Amino acid sequence: MIQLIRGCKDILPGETELWQKIEETAKEIFEDFGFREIRIPIMEKTELFARSIGEHTDIVEKEMYTFPDRGGEMLTLRPEATASIVRSYIQHKMYAQDPVRKFYTIGPMFRRERPQKGRYRQFYQINAEILGVAAPFADAQLIYMLTLLFSRLSVTDVTAHINSLGCPECRPDFREALLNYLSEREEELCADCRRRSRINPLRTLDCKVPKCREQMKDAPAITDRLCGECRTHFEKVQKFLHAMQVSFEIDKRMVRGLDYYTRTTFEILTGSLGAQSAVAGGGRYDGLIKILGGPDMPAIGFAIGLDRLTEICGINAESLQRKPALYIAALGENCQDKAFEWICALGQKGICAESDMEGKSLKSQMKRADRLGSPYVLILGEDELSSGQALLRNMKTKEQTAVPIENLPEKIKEIIK
Ligand code: ATP
Ligand code: MG
Repeated sequence: MIQLIRGCKDILPGETELWQKIEETAKEIFEDFGFREIRIPIMEKTELFARSIGEHTDIVEKEMYTFPDRGGEMLTLRPEATASIVRSYIQHKMYAQDPVRKFYTIGPMFRRERPQKGRYRQFYQINAEILGVAAPFADAQLIYMLTLLFSRLSVTDVTAHINSLGCPECRPDFREALLNYLSEREEELCADCRRRSRINPLRTLDCKVPKCREQMKDAPAITDRLCGECRTHFEKVQKFLHAMQVSFEIDKRMVRGLDYYTRTTFEILTGSLGAQSAVAGGGRYDGLIKILGGPDMPAIGFAIGLDRLTEICGINAESLQRKPALYIAALGENCQDKAFEWICALGQKGICAESDMEGKSLKSQMKRADRLGSPYVLILGEDELSSGQALLRNMKTKEQTAVPIENLPEKIKEIIK
């Protein structure tokens, strides 16, 4: 038997209802805030991700699904959505008409990580991005939208962590101070951090290895070294969040795994998922549009891990499952033919009716109706057919009433809707 690929999963009926509910709720909020859906391809040229996410990030160094196309071009299954959205914004010169664009997109991402609970090789994200806005209002609005979504989905046990990574003005000084700090403790750090300290020193700040955490606890904090503009920006974000009663923590260790971030970064963390504690993450990427060949324009966005969100969502998935409104227990071929017509007519009216068309006994059909959770069963045998009256049984009260066969779908609609 051929099994699915390690790190992939099937999302089955019983689960999909919750996925749909989350997606609908997110879409509703995004549309209420003026975001519009954008759909981008699942494959892009490898170079797009290498240039935007950064050559020396975990994603680009070891997690991408990259392969030569039959024509020889190197392609990659997208590990995230922002790069493609920015590419699209530039390619269609969207900045020329109205530089301010607000997008959302929902879909699969691919990273070759070690599969475990909350970590898959094909996983799903909900993204929202604001392009063309430098004001801290955008940062706070995105974080507010995230908290609104989580509260609508009855997610508890989440906290927003925010940080500022500064800008090309102030980051070099901080990098310098961090490198000094690292050079004094190089021996105590894990092999990854020793390597990182040479190529991507900021990443040492959020290393999960306990001995590195211990070593890094007195490391310089970027928030203490922000330039005037970055400081004012960060303070304004906090002010807006306070105004909207969004509670948050400043997490000066949070650097995020992609190179393109500037200024505000944020994560929504949960205590319910063990090591996979981040349910959403995002930040400003003011330099990215230019790096990818567009104009010098600011932008900010976030990605929600949909798989993880379904695991902590407080909504009971079973309550979302739609049951048939009616089960038609038809006995004999004539009755089955009638049932066929009624099922189509009812479906067309938005009423889901089920039937067993295999000539099973009444008893076995009643059992199936029960298993499907149908609140009503319509019983139709040859006797009913000739008398022009079918029997409608209320499965809860066990009451049975006669319903005229003529125009039956219309009558059923009146009774059960
Ligand atoms: P983590 O720290 O858990 O590796 P990340 O910083 O790599 O997360 P981002 O690139 O910011 O994650 O993606 C945003 C969100 O997507 C994460 O907060 C997480 O919920 C989800 N996510 C990331 N990688 C995976 C994965 N392999 N499987 C499932 N969800 C994931
Ligand atoms: Mg990761």
